[in-house]
Amino acid sequence: MEQKVRNKSFYFDTACTSHMTPYAGRLLNYSVCGGFVKSSSQKSMEIVGKGDVVMDCVLRYGSVSSFCVRGVLHVPDLAHPLISWRKLREKGYTEFGEGDYILINKGTKVVFEAVFDGNLFKIPEISHPAHITYDFWHQALGHLAPSTMDKSLQLYSDADIPARPTNYVCSSCVKS
Ligand SMILES: [Zn+2]
Repeated sequence: MEQKVRNKSFYFDTACTSHMTPYAGRLLNYSVCGGFVKSSSQKSMEIVGKGDVVMDCVLRYGSVSSFCVRGVLHVPDLAHPLISWRKLREKGYTEFGEGDYILINKGTKVVFEAVFDGNLFKIPEISHPAHITYDFWHQALGHLAPSTMDKSLQLYSDADIPARPTNYVCSSCVKS
């Protein structure tokens, strides 16, 4: 089955010193390297390689931002991929928190947004922009209320979000 959202999501992390991922699959320009890096629990983990990752990040109001992250360490013991705020900060990026969202900007441009998933700040990505449904956006945007989404659609005429299907119901939202 085709997956609309990559299940190996990157998370935005303020503590880690480097971008890193346990999965080699998305690392471009891969090169073998060594060393160790510490996790948030101070456990020492082995670095086996590094590479670059191209991310297609979902932004609120219906646009997609493609962003190349260089020098992502391959750390097989890591729990999940991490984007390091410390590394971005060194490169002149700025961070802006807004409720459940963190916006990372370069100059005035939003490079990516991270959404609080109840535990961590997840960076929503798409793999097939043409196939995105209204439901995809609703979930990617942290179950943003349909009324709020509809308002965004009116404000942003260049939005890529499809119109809300009639009788649209999100089963997760209904339960809560
Ligand atoms: Zn929902």
